[in-house]
Amino acid sequence: MIKKGTKAYSILHRKCPHCHEGEFYEDKNPYNLSTMSPVLKRCPVCDRSLHMETGFYFGAMYVAYSIGVAVMITVWVATLILGLDLSYWTIVFVIAGILILFSPFIYAISKIIWANLFFSYKGVEKTAEELQK
Ligand SMILES: [Zn+2]
Repeated sequence: MIKKGTKAYSILHRKCPHCHEGEFYEDKNPYNLSTMSPVLKRCPVCDRSLHMETGFYFGAMYVAYSIGVAVMITVWVATLILGLDLSYWTIVFVIAGILILFSPFIYAISKIIWANLFFSYKGVEKTAEELQK
């Protein structure tokens, strides 16, 4: 279906954006609230850094915000399509409930989406350009 080498593969399988084989998170379970899906420093397979700079993953908040807005619009449109006659506050509480329930997953997935905006697939072996450094 989704081939290795595409950003969708890295995101859906939660693999290293450089090689698509190594793990991205120290703990793959986003609902382990004591750790909150920390990203590994380096990929265990290709040994490339998964952090461009200190605080790199703060930018993932932009992605999490846009996912939150997408969820909000989806729930609102779904209530319109299904013809549910819900009050304003009921819709607000449904949206808030969904966002709270899925926030650990959204937080985790936003980090790998953010990483895939900046890192591209290079394969496991170091490229000639990387070997010159
Ligand atoms: Zn890798």
